Amino acid sequence: MSFEELYGGAPEGTWAAPGRVNLIGEYTDFNDGFVMPLALPHTAVAQVSRRTDGVLRLYSADIEGGIVQLRTDELEPLTNTSWAAYPAGIVWALREAGHPVTGADIHLSSTVPTGAGLSSSAALEVVTALALNDLYELGLDCGQLALIAQRAENAFVGVPCGVMDQTASACCAEGHALHLDCRDHSIRQVPFDLAAQGLRLLVVDTRVKHALGDGAYAERRAGCEEGARILGVPALRDVPYEQLADALAKLSDPKVRGYVRHVVSDNHRVARTVALLDTGDVRGVGPILTDGHASLRDDLLVSCDELDLVVASANAGGALGARMTGGGFGGSAIVLVEEVHAEAVAKAVTEAFAAAGHTEPRIFTATASAGARRLS
Ligand code: ADP
Ligand code: MG
Repeated sequence: MSFEELYGGAPEGTWAAPGRVNLIGEYTDFNDGFVMPLALPHTAVAQVSRRTDGVLRLYSADIEGGIVQLRTDELEPLTNTSWAAYPAGIVWALREAGHPVTGADIHLSSTVPTGAGLSSSAALEVVTALALNDLYELGLDCGQLALIAQRAENAFVGVPCGVMDQTASACCAEGHALHLDCRDHSIRQVPFDLAAQGLRLLVVDTRVKHALGDGAYAERRAGCEEGARILGVPALRDVPYEQLADALAKLSDPKVRGYVRHVVSDNHRVARTVALLDTGDVRGVGPILTDGHASLRDDLLVSCDELDLVVASANAGGALGARMTGGGFGGSAIVLVEEVHAEAVAKAVTEAFAAAGHTEPRIFTATASAGARRLS
């Protein structure tokens, strides 16, 4: 159903916010570290009108069930377990921060694949936040909108995510990857125009999600905090790469040692990637991706057979490098490849999946796209 059919009358405006893939820097965000996401061409789109009567009406064209109607002054964290918690959480977080949001009619639709590690949830949050920011003239910048969206997901929906996904969706720029410092939230746009270099970044959605994932995230987080405590630093971000060997010698638990080695080395991989992109050596990023995958697989222990197979088959098929991206245990991997080899590499991955008896993966090209914006 269209906005007009649902609510009677045209929306005041239309906004879009993208999903994302993370190029490098995984499980570093909650360690005050560095990440480097880029926005996908896939977006969540919101058509929105203001209301003054405290009523919030939410509709997703992608979900059965019609309009969800709530009251802005009765929103309670952790009470709504449906998809509506994401946009409702934005209204709640804005009001908690003192912004006078007095209701809205919202129509959502999205082309971001859900549950594939491409942040469909952040896209939904950020598009809602940007629309309300514009309509209610709140004057928040993209970084502030990302923090509102993270608060909505952490406190209202109840998912303990870092700030990367929301910042990527809110702040990314076309043709660039976003270098984000997760401690002070400062950002820098780093040129990432692959087409101009004859290159491509493929996203391989394995279409599996192993149940292991949820508890594993909390366990990694606790292990990293434990490592920082033993090493006497506020966060693992404060362990310089040059002192990694010394730090590891102080850690007796092999699990914690692996987590620390991953986080410290992945922060270093982000720095190396930025340096390469700044000098225009995009091809040099390939081996860094593959190193990052080995670290996620062997030290952080968050990969799975399907993700390992993407990396192995893509590299064997002629890719420049590949790694899992996002939380792991399924979801998606990225593959950096020469444009001329892209088809052959995609075929090699698809054939390897068929031979292993896995579900056929969904493969598409990630073009570094614009962050959240008003469409009309
Ligand atoms: P990811 O963010 O990696 O895609 P999440 O589990 O964090 O996975 O978020 C997926 C959830 O976001 C879905 O289960 C649904 O509740 C919500 N969602 C995403 N896209 C839409 C949509 N178009 N309409 C309604 N809900 C959506
Ligand atoms: Mg999500």
